[in-house]
Amino acid sequence: MAKLPILRFPDPRLRKKGLPVKAVTPDLQVLADDMLETMYAENGIGLAAAQVDRQIRLIVVDTAQRSRTQTTADEDQHEAPRQMTGDDTDYDLNHDEIDVEAVRDEFGGETDLERAITQPLILFNPVVVKKQGKTTFNEGCLSVPTYYEVVERAKLIEVEALDREGRPVRLITDGLLAICIQHEIDHLDGKLFIDRLSPIKSARVKSKIKKNGYPDKTSAEKSSKKSSDEPAL
Ligand SMILES: [Zn+2]
Repeated sequence: MAKLPILRFPDPRLRKKGLPVKAVTPDLQVLADDMLETMYAENGIGLAAAQVDRQIRLIVVDTAQRSRTQTTADEDQHEAPRQMTGDDTDYDLNHDEIDVEAVRDEFGGETDLERAITQPLILFNPVVVKKQGKTTFNEGCLSVPTYYEVVERAKLIEVEALDREGRPVRLITDGLLAICIQHEIDHLDGKLFIDRLSPIKSARVKSKIKKNGYPDKTSAEKSSKKSSDEPAL
């Protein structure tokens, strides 16, 4: 397991399109596990291969992690209950805990569809085959740290993909998980959430980042408590 460096906007490599995976090889399984480790360490709820400079269609997602680990993490930083494929890695939960329950209030809590899906998800070649309705969410991104903007997405999606073992999977979800999957698939097409704002707002945010860069984590938390409580995708 290894923690990978995450590319940040305006890095042009974030704009490259990911190629479909022909077969899920052991190397790609290691990459997926490393991406999960990176995502947990950075307090994210989703990560796309594009964000770690791999131009393939692979995303990892875990929108359930904090509601499940919150109490334990508060009591003992080293006792992370999330395990993957028998690995005994402890994830770094030594961060301000994100109040996912408060975030979920927008949706009236974790939905039945979300609850029915075992997470974390590792999805190769994910494709949204059906979408229904509209919803909005104040999105963030590990590649655009400290920035949060309201983005419109489909409310309910049906997704086809290959799992960690290369088996075809189909899932139907809504809530935060549906938003996160759509955000991550965008990354595979070189697209960021700040591209989905109104043209004026999008241009304003991008020029602000290009001009000022990103504040370091400590000053960002001081200046905006709310932002540090929101999950990054
Ligand atoms: Zn993102």
